[in-house]
Amino acid sequence: MRETGTVIIASSYTRDFKEVSAFHPSIDNNISWADVSVLHDGYELSRQQKLKYLCQSENLPYLSRLRVCWDSAHKTNCGKCEKCLRTVTGLALEGVDPNKCNFDIDTNTFPRLRDNFTKGKFKADAGLVYIWSDIQKHIPELIDIDIKGSKEFLNWLRGLNISQYRANRLSHFLWMARLQYSNKRIKTEAIFRKSKCYYYIILSKLGVV
Ligand SMILES: [Zn+2]
Repeated sequence: MRETGTVIIASSYTRDFKEVSAFHPSIDNNISWADVSVLHDGYELSRQQKLKYLCQSENLPYLSRLRVCWDSAHKTNCGKCEKCLRTVTGLALEGVDPNKCNFDIDTNTFPRLRDNFTKGKFKADAGLVYIWSDIQKHIPELIDIDIKGSKEFLNWLRGLNISQYRANRLSHFLWMARLQYSNKRIKTEAIFRKSKCYYYIILSKLGVV
């Protein structure tokens, strides 16, 4: 780590976020080791404000390599996890086609996203409410641009009472399992190995082995 200088950690929230969170400048900015310091970057801007900045014409060339997905083991954004979907929504809101930003969306993407909310597939927490509320605040009364069904979705999202969102545990579990499998986070061999372990644990409890 010699001559690393400063490690920059992008902020998740702004000072408006009142919940206790480890994503905070008072933590990041006080971390240092050897000659390396840490900077919590962009705390003054919300996520949608950052996207707005990135969607300015001079920045658009960089967006072709945008990578936000932390779920996929592939090189591209999965386009299905909550973080990908909130980014896809934010880009469409700024009038930028997500397919030019390292995503692969189609006309099913926004209906599926709406379904994720109505069926409680996303995990419900203060961060989700905060981030989607931020997107809501930026939706204009009149939406001019439609990208693969974004207009209909944004009009629906504007009226959603996000603070009342509740996750459905079963829907969330099944959605996560499918997502992790398609993102190669669950491998068949790993499931087989784990099942074999449990099989022998059960046998030992029964005194068979
Ligand atoms: Zn993703």
